[in-house]
Amino acid sequence: MAGGPIAAAAARKVGVRRILAATLAMVLLLIAGACSAVALPAMAIVAASGNNVGTPELHEPGQGGTLVPSESGWWRPVPGPITSLYGPRRIICNAAGCSTPFHQGLDFGSGCGTPMVAVYAGTVTFAGNAGGFGNRVIVDHGGGIETIYGHIQNASTFVQVGQQVDGGDQIALVGDTGVGTGCHLDLKVRVDGVHTDPQAFLRGRGVNV
Ligand SMILES: [Zn+2]
Repeated sequence: MAGGPIAAAAARKVGVRRILAATLAMVLLLIAGACSAVALPAMAIVAASGNNVGTPELHEPGQGGTLVPSESGWWRPVPGPITSLYGPRRIICNAAGCSTPFHQGLDFGSGCGTPMVAVYAGTVTFAGNAGGFGNRVIVDHGGGIETIYGHIQNASTFVQVGQQVDGGDQIALVGDTGVGTGCHLDLKVRVDGVHTDPQAFLRGRGVNV
């Protein structure tokens, strides 16, 4: 009696179970989607690049072209205007604390979530939170030269301590962690442990900043 009333009832039961299972799966997907909404942009970039440092497709401000290295192999870290120069500056305070009266970095007013690239090949020596500087990455380029990338967006650092990066590799996304007045990249350059003007330093290596 295949296909009789009992078999039909069993088939209906299986059908109802399938619908319930499908509904449950959809609800779980929606919850997962909502929870990971913040992390998705970073994940998308990592996935699109095929590795965890990636290939940038950034644009120079007002030029519309892809960021390219200078002849000596140095890069602009992000597109966007320079919003604060190295040198004396008024003190800025927020919930994370106050800035120092001498600005040791060069600020790029790039939007929240803009990918930033290592300005030159090197080794990551720090990747984590640094109080008023927010989340930051430090890259040692050898020869006593280090570059420091500040205020990185939470959960948006793509590199780890000890990792080798090339100039132009994406290392993190622009954020507003630490002391500041909005999303921007604060780039610092140290030579033999002493801060120097990043704009003059990069211009001296053929970079448009
Ligand atoms: Zn700054």
